[in-house]
Amino acid sequence: MKTIGLIGGMSWESSIEYYSIINTQIKLRVGGLHSAKILMYSVDFAEIEHRQRLGDWNSLSQIMISAAQILDYAGANCILMCANTMHKVASDVAKSINIPLIHIADATASVIQKDGIKKVALLGTKYTMEEDFFKSILINNYGLEVVIPNDKDRQIIHDVIYTELCNGTINKQSKLEYIRIVNSLKEQGIEGVILGCTEIGLLVQECDLGIATYDTALIHAMSAVDFALG
Ligand code: GLU
Repeated sequence: MKTIGLIGGMSWESSIEYYSIINTQIKLRVGGLHSAKILMYSVDFAEIEHRQRLGDWNSLSQIMISAAQILDYAGANCILMCANTMHKVASDVAKSINIPLIHIADATASVIQKDGIKKVALLGTKYTMEEDFFKSILINNYGLEVVIPNDKDRQIIHDVIYTELCNGTINKQSKLEYIRIVNSLKEQGIEGVILGCTEIGLLVQECDLGIATYDTALIHAMSAVDFALG
């Protein structure tokens, strides 16, 4: 079994999910007392969030590179950044290590493609919804059509992530807001929804949204298990 390197803490609320999903899957697939070989480098999320707001992506890239190199040096066989937003610097990180970086957008898009789905809504931080680093992979490499919520709804989704979900708060009203936003996007003919932030699965799931739902944290963690056992 290969060793999985996780860059976590972005936020730790979702890193727990990665740890739990990966170990549960290894136990299911291998059986007995088997559990995953994992190395995790967990960052201080306040420092990350502050730099994101300042737009200081150079220093964020340096932080991710140094975490990835430490994990590489410590014996990890692959790296996962446990957040969609930080994939803005994924290509810098991939270039700085000698092991594969399992990209969250690739992992997610290949599952969507296998399901034969063409048009998806993308929920995530404003960085993920509005910028190109995530969407361009879905569009250019997997031929998907991507719909994002309107301005006002993007702000609601973004604020709930940083002020509630990353803080460990699950709020019923916010859940209803997310459901309302997805229902409004259904009018544009979407066939599925990407939970493109690793904390959103803590708030809503497919049974709430009533449409094919792709939780990036779950899919990303599962792809690490495939890698470890492959
Ligand atoms: N975990 C989040 C994501 O998947 C948001 C937190 C962050 O900014 O890294 O995008």
